[in-house]
Amino acid sequence: MLKTSLGKKSQTYMTAILKNKTESLYIHIPFCHGICFYCDFERSVYNQDKADQYLNELAKELNNVDADIKTIYIGGGTPTALNHQQLEFLFKQLERFKNVEEFTIEINPESFDLKKAKLIKEYGVNRVSIGIQSFDEELLKTMNRKHNLKDIENVFSYLETVGIKNRSIDLIYGFKGQQIKDVIADLKQAVKLPITHVSIYELEIHDNTVFGKQGYPEIDDELSAKMYKGIIDYLKDNSFEQYEISNFCKPGYQSLHNKAYWHYDNYYGIGLAASGKLENYRYTNTTSLQQYLEGNYCGEEIKLSHEDLEFEAIMMGLRLLEGIDITVFNEKYNVNLQDKYSKAIRNNVEKGLLEIVDNHLKTTEKGLFILNDILVDFMELL
Ligand code: SF4
Repeated sequence: MLKTSLGKKSQTYMTAILKNKTESLYIHIPFCHGICFYCDFERSVYNQDKADQYLNELAKELNNVDADIKTIYIGGGTPTALNHQQLEFLFKQLERFKNVEEFTIEINPESFDLKKAKLIKEYGVNRVSIGIQSFDEELLKTMNRKHNLKDIENVFSYLETVGIKNRSIDLIYGFKGQQIKDVIADLKQAVKLPITHVSIYELEIHDNTVFGKQGYPEIDDELSAKMYKGIIDYLKDNSFEQYEISNFCKPGYQSLHNKAYWHYDNYYGIGLAASGKLENYRYTNTTSLQQYLEGNYCGEEIKLSHEDLEFEAIMMGLRLLEGIDITVFNEKYNVNLQDKYSKAIRNNVEKGLLEIVDNHLKTTEKGLFILNDILVDFMELL
């Protein structure tokens, strides 16, 4: 893996952009109305002037994108922390992408209203990802989330009014003192809502977060595994199919955009700290808002080796329950997956952690609990 650190995107980047077929575009909005205690994303508290400057720079960076984009995902941060005019400015920059099939924006309940709902609908958003995290108001306060249950109810009413039906929600589990019944209580509330998709993540404590600095504990592995199993079973019993380690949906509602990551396709990342991948070239934008505002977007560029590409494709592909299409993999990386990784595959198939079905290498349900251990076996064969 060859790394360089650059202030401006290099010629390699520009050439890669022009040459590669890329259908997915991620846009990062790094502003929020408050800082959640578990959050280690790149974000700062919303400031109108800074957000105006940021959007101007973002528009310039977006000019580099010259592709037939099929999926757009506006994430953050909190995209809905932007005011109405700022959101409209952002959407206008995206109007030139005429063939978008899936257009998602992340919504936080405390910063969404009917006017914004009408605006996103007008500009073609057809999928939303709502940051709910929990239906327990005490837990929301523990996380320093800024919304309450009434705000959540309002979001659904606004979406219903404007007719955006493809709705995903984000939930988090694994808080101190939480039991399986508490996690299931959250899911009970979730499945009552008119949603198509659930992303549910275990709480991770990072040193640079408020929780990290407070010494907030992570739950133990045994409880974590029981919670995860409870989640899989409950959502399955309620007509949600699991299609990725942390993602569940009603039939037909898998996220096209996120599947581009898991299929290890190309994608552009625009905005502060965003990453893009164009064949064997990956970049990550600067994490300094000041640098970004000065037009120095690129923080790091990496040229991926053939081994990097193979391993990352395996790592991403095994997250998906559909697994890795062996023929596609072999053609894409000019390798025989079953020969090169025969030891890792055999070991894990024998343990019931992997299986080969219909020419796909898949992680079993048992394997989902310890995917990192499985991947170590593949890494050793690079
Ligand atoms: S709203 Fe999202 S991005 Fe903003 S602080 Fe909370 S978790 Fe982080």
